Amino acid sequence: MDLYEYQARDLFEAHGVPVLAGIVAQTPEEAKAAAEQIGGVVVVKAQVKVGGRGKAGGVKLAKTADEAYEHAKAILGMDIKGHTVHRVMIAQGADIAEEYYFSILLDRANRDYLAMCSKEGGVEIEQLAEERPEALARVNFDPNTGIDAGKAAEIAEQAGFSADEVPALAEVFQQLWTAFSQEDATLVEVNPLVKTGEGTIIALDGKVTVDENADFRQPGHAELVDEQAEDPLEAKAKANDLNYVKLDGEVGIIGNGAGLVMSTLDVVAYAGEAHNGVKPANFLDIGGGASAEVMANGLDVILGDDQVKSVFVNVFGGITACDAVANGIVKALEILGEAATKPLVVRLDGNSVEEGRRILREADHPLVTLATSMDEGADKAAELANK
Ligand code: GDP
Ligand code: MN
Repeated sequence: MDLYEYQARDLFEAHGVPVLAGIVAQTPEEAKAAAEQIGGVVVVKAQVKVGGRGKAGGVKLAKTADEAYEHAKAILGMDIKGHTVHRVMIAQGADIAEEYYFSILLDRANRDYLAMCSKEGGVEIEQLAEERPEALARVNFDPNTGIDAGKAAEIAEQAGFSADEVPALAEVFQQLWTAFSQEDATLVEVNPLVKTGEGTIIALDGKVTVDENADFRQPGHAELVDEQAEDPLEAKAKANDLNYVKLDGEVGIIGNGAGLVMSTLDVVAYAGEAHNGVKPANFLDIGGGASAEVMANGLDVILGDDQVKSVFVNVFGGITACDAVANGIVKALEILGEAATKPLVVRLDGNSVEEGRRILREADHPLVTLATSMDEGADKAAELANK
């Protein structure tokens, strides 16, 4: 889960990382009150989970509370790269002398932990990494020892900071590591990390991603979820403990087991090439026990996606035999009634397959087509999605 900047700011503060005052506001009135409370020059910052807000006009300096009101009015409701701004953060204005870049991330591609640092922050780091890679220090580290004093100094030195600049930076790097590790983060990025006119180091803009797999030991993370911004279908799937990922295509997919669902995605994408390029609309794994209720919940989620034109149910009977799955589909269609409106192609195989097929044939539901193989089912589903 990606956090908003104001959430990252609060989290940094809780771990001792130096930040400036920041108050979140949902209306221009709240923004004005926040500006009065903070006092002096403030910055009105759009809260969207996407970078480059500054360039898009989502970060504006305000010298007075009335100016903060006007900027908040302009920024709230703004569209930044497809994200609507529902909140702004009123941040205490900083006297910026220099802008740096610092990040800690789980480097999946290299199966390692990585810290990156540059004296040239505030800019788009992807661009810097491409155009002048030598300006971006990359230091791998062992997560068991983390970023201790020695590692922090090494990172600052590699980025080209002079000996008198290293200690202050190294301290902040260690604090950011504390935040990263204690919050089970996979990314902590500060851009810019600034040096003020007085020479203090402050994290001015933070981007944090926390690992949802650690939710069980991070009870505090539940309140960071923005239900307003969550995809309603994904929320529904989550509430029903379904493993669901929304994709862009037209063929809804339900399978049991991640491996089978992933290969179904491939087979449907391939079959779709012969049917006007239709593609899988989602990933939905109903897991081992494909009961009627689980099947109904799964179908309910997928049929709720307007982009879905047909559904391919691809189930391999194992511990849960095909007859139970077939009964599940029949009952699910009963439960859904009128809500089921799109054609369903069902391919069953494995344990008790004959009995499962017999049940579906006898139910003879007008929306259901039986397929005998995965390829045939994928082709039929793609064909129906293209109608
Ligand atoms: P981003 O564009 O989404 O990365 O938003 P940032 O929070 O990083 O802000 C973009 C830029 O605005 C920064 O790099 C700074 O140059 C500038 N900025 C942000 N806050 C302040 C501030 O308090 N004072 C000044 N002078 N500039 C700021
Ligand atoms: Mn930034």
